[in-house]
Amino acid sequence: MITVEKPVDRTKYSLLSVVIPVYQEGSHIKNTVKIIEDVLISNNITYEFIFVDDGSTDNTFSELKSLARDNWRVSVVRLSRNFGKESAICAGLDYAAGDMILTMDADLQHPPEVIPAMVDAWLNEGYDVVEGVKHSRGKENIIYRVCAKFFYYMVNKSSDVNLERASDFKLMDRKVVEAWKKLPERTSFFRGMSAWLGFRRKEIEFDVAKRVAGRSKWSLFRLLRLAANAVTSYTTVPLHFITLLGAVMLFGAVVLGVQTLYMKLSGRAGSGFTTVILLQLIIGSAIMTSLGIIGLYLSKIYHEVKARPRYIVSEYIRGGEDK
Ligand code: UDP
Ligand code: MG
Repeated sequence: MITVEKPVDRTKYSLLSVVIPVYQEGSHIKNTVKIIEDVLISNNITYEFIFVDDGSTDNTFSELKSLARDNWRVSVVRLSRNFGKESAICAGLDYAAGDMILTMDADLQHPPEVIPAMVDAWLNEGYDVVEGVKHSRGKENIIYRVCAKFFYYMVNKSSDVNLERASDFKLMDRKVVEAWKKLPERTSFFRGMSAWLGFRRKEIEFDVAKRVAGRSKWSLFRLLRLAANAVTSYTTVPLHFITLLGAVMLFGAVVLGVQTLYMKLSGRAGSGFTTVILLQLIIGSAIMTSLGIIGLYLSKIYHEVKARPRYIVSEYIRGGEDK
């Protein structure tokens, strides 16, 4: 059972934890921090930064370390290798101490100017989750766009979680994060999980900005993996679809079987190779696809059963500590 602890008091001195997963962003991370910090300071928001270095191999960690040395509000969690953005966010949430916790990207694609409105919705309107939703998706190539559309269509049709405009840019109350941390799943899909958790939610639209520098780390393979993960996290509809497919094929088999027998008995059976080949192909591909879908769920169960930790921390620099 997941219970809610005592709610935190919401005052204008409440602490905001800004959780940022960082991978290969060394060239511009200091600039990013400066821009976010300017927004926070000019809006009198009390804040801390939790950076999670997701196993970067460039100068990201040394940059973060120097940030932490100069700024006691900066904490850095270094993961032992690249675990992926989802796991990095989990790590950040585990280390965040704030009354409200904000997750955002390190490349300024999530505009910091929206943060004050998010904090305001938490502070003055009593919302527990303030979601940044994509007003426009920014510049993406056509293939990516089509794939994304298809993927979201699938998820929307098969589960009641609307993911199309969801992003990882969101502000959550302490109690939401505590509830999230108690979910036992290993392979999670953060974006949708906060929708699943519920609570009082508000959406704030934002325009996805251009990446400041560096490049996106999503290769096609990574995206496909994320998509498979997202679908299997929320719904078992594809499994039922297999049963349905089987039923349809059975119906076809009965009809064709009767027809074949009739032809045979009436002595009219003859050259039917095309039909045989087509049937072979259809049945073969249906079976393969079905096995693949079952395999996806099987691998999910396999990973969950192993129950390995979501991430491993190799170093932790707590803000304000002597370094
Ligand atoms: N990121 C991460 N681990 C990864 C890949 C990305 O922590 O393995 C971080 C990255 O540093 C950035 C955020 O996740 O802060 C979003 O990454 P990216 O900009 O590559 O994704 P996109 O905006 O293209 O979806
Ligand atoms: Mg980005």
